[in-house]
Amino acid sequence: MKSPEKNTAVSGVDASAREMFPAPGGTQSMPYLPIFLNIRAQSCLVVGGGEIAARKASLLLKAGAVVTVVSPQLTGILEHMAETGRVQWRQGEFSESDLDNINLVIAATNSSPVNISVHKEATVRGIPVNVVDNPELCTFVMPAIIDRNPLLVAVSTGGASPTFSRLIRTRLEQMIPSGFGRMAALAGRFRQRVKDSLAEPADRRRFWEHVLDGPISERLMELPAEQAAGELERALAQAQSQAQNGELAQSSSRGCVYLVGAGPGNPDMLTLGALRIIGKADVVVYDRLVSLEVLEYARRDAELIFVGKEKGHHNRPQEEINDLLVELGRQGKQVVRLKGGDPLVFGRGGEEALKLISNGIQCRIIPGMTAAVGCAATTGIPLTHRGISHSCMLVTGHLKDGVLDLNWEAMAHPRQTLVIYMGLTGLDELCSKLISHGLSGSTPAACIEQGTTPAQRVIEGTLENLPQITLQAGLKPPVLTVIGEVVGLRSKINPRAQE
Ligand code: SAH
Repeated sequence: MKSPEKNTAVSGVDASAREMFPAPGGTQSMPYLPIFLNIRAQSCLVVGGGEIAARKASLLLKAGAVVTVVSPQLTGILEHMAETGRVQWRQGEFSESDLDNINLVIAATNSSPVNISVHKEATVRGIPVNVVDNPELCTFVMPAIIDRNPLLVAVSTGGASPTFSRLIRTRLEQMIPSGFGRMAALAGRFRQRVKDSLAEPADRRRFWEHVLDGPISERLMELPAEQAAGELERALAQAQSQAQNGELAQSSSRGCVYLVGAGPGNPDMLTLGALRIIGKADVVVYDRLVSLEVLEYARRDAELIFVGKEKGHHNRPQEEINDLLVELGRQGKQVVRLKGGDPLVFGRGGEEALKLISNGIQCRIIPGMTAAVGCAATTGIPLTHRGISHSCMLVTGHLKDGVLDLNWEAMAHPRQTLVIYMGLTGLDELCSKLISHGLSGSTPAACIEQGTTPAQRVIEGTLENLPQITLQAGLKPPVLTVIGEVVGLRSKINPRAQE
């Protein structure tokens, strides 16, 4: 459909115009007219004193209405709202005089005759009326709402199925980040300024697309209002000078590399932010720890580049990956560098970020769930537990020139949980060093292979026997090792642990 702002002539033959201006008597295609009512300082009536009435009253209050509730009794929340003066309570049964000077009424009682009488009296007086869960008695219906003040999305199935509206709302909630509200408010604040600064409508559109959907949008959503305004101010000044030189058209697609945590493998453990950014990317650079299910969220036409590192086969040295990211960023692409777990936990994300920044490439870091956190949940091994473990230490068990260079004194504490990343090869040395530094050989310990995924395997033992039993089980990376008394809780927290 063409933009309705274009004001196409009604008499013309343009198909979209016909769609917008159906012929008189033409088939009805919309069950309701969606509108947003301004009820600020207007008198609204809620009939009913229960849970649903309370919810409707709250909604009306949120939109600034002056609310009266009429009901013989009030339940908990409504009673509190009346006591604190947020709503006025007229105790008693509904009578038609309750509608005097009322601009809108909602009936939420479980009495059919009362609901019918509210509908009747209201329609006689021309007052918009909604009877909860009874579309026949409504002159307006209430949509499911996604509230990102000042951005509002309303969903309706025309009264057919409120559950369906709620389902759609949940999906939209996931698609519309909570920061969008703040961004909409910011856009409102700057609307006139942008109009004054950029004379050409095409430049304004480019600027707003860049601000609302480009890399800067992610930053604007995170920053406090005033800092975000400052950032927008700078972007506008830059756009203004670019527009004067005719450069704005090219600059809006400036490259950015997102270092995105893909979580420990199970796609359910992706963050909503990661999901959104993966879906926007032109290029996705990923390695072995990233599961195929996660890659499914990339655009169909996105370029996928594997830079996997398998132990012993360093497909691509880190330096080369860094250079590749810089190069892709320079080409003006939206690049997602997907990393297993969290980019900043044994992920070398810091090195990649430093390299990008020193080359003047925009870089954003999107956190992911690190393997320790994911594996804790899916195995039932808490990382800390009152009275058992007061701290948790994440260490790398990666051998450097065949040795483990770790702070053994700090690690060998009985009331602490140790989580070892990349520790399979050096497991033997790790366990015996911990014992020689004072940890008991009977300390519970576990190895988790492909944690959080359907292929997860857990081998549980003690510091003394873990190296041997993992060898027997033939575990292969990725394997996470957890050492500490907390491992003993697994069988209590996770019923499947005994299987
Ligand atoms: N950045 C990642 C860690 C990368 S280091 C994170 O935050 O999780 C690679 C090591 O992570 C592996 O050797 C293994 O110890 C651990 N690991 C990552 N995913 C894992 C998984 N699904 N199950 C078990 N261990 C995992």
